[in-house]
Amino acid sequence: MTQTINADPAELDKFSALAHHWWDPQSEFRPLHEINPLRLDWIDRQASLAGKRVVDIGCGGGILSESMAARGAQVTGIDMAEKPLKVAKLHMLESGLKVDYRQITAEELAAAEPGAFDVVTCMEMLEHVPDPGSTIRACAELAKPGGWVFLSTLNRNPKSYLFAILGAEYILKLLPRGTHDWARFIKPSELIRLTRDAGLDMANLAGMSYNPLTRAYRIGPDVDVNYLVACRKP
Ligand code: SAH
Repeated sequence: MTQTINADPAELDKFSALAHHWWDPQSEFRPLHEINPLRLDWIDRQASLAGKRVVDIGCGGGILSESMAARGAQVTGIDMAEKPLKVAKLHMLESGLKVDYRQITAEELAAAEPGAFDVVTCMEMLEHVPDPGSTIRACAELAKPGGWVFLSTLNRNPKSYLFAILGAEYILKLLPRGTHDWARFIKPSELIRLTRDAGLDMANLAGMSYNPLTRAYRIGPDVDVNYLVACRKP
């Protein structure tokens, strides 16, 4: 039987084409730089990263991976796009931080190292994958019993079309056109169902909203556009 890989080559190419800008905080990756301190604190408050073994799935150029390593976690970063991983490895030379970067799918790593991680993070990636349910099952397999799984993605409703597609890609031009496909966005109810089907317990749901006037992000109750979910493996 041939195994199909749960990755969309066109999506991976999009990230490879931009990868050289990854650590430029004024580039297409500005939103990731701006949200990173918020999500890092949110994760660290719940899972106490120091000393923990962490896998960051769809790590890209390593913004979150490095910041978790800086908090004292032992981090593995995986991605299926080659160039972002190269950039991530090069950036370690500048930062002096250590992350184990590997080009492997979450499903393959889960088969090789089941139950190996205290914390699994998969941020802003599920909306780029053909089968997010399969990725979430892999996240659950990678976590130790009692371990944490943190996910983030984009909600699917008229407001998220207005903000995440029209606003971010066409009006404010925060992201290149075509970065996101609205049809692939995932409602919180759908995501929570996928985590439950994967055997995870929901611990927390939080929104991440952007105020275009103050240009500031905040974590709060508004899950209409971007949101985060924290789960635990029983
Ligand atoms: N998680 C990082 C990067 C988000 S950008 C952050 O939040 O800072 C989305 C990343 O997901 C890109 O690096 C892209 O290459 C990666 N990706 C897309 N499909 C993937 C797949 N099937 N397997 C692993 N990584 C994937």
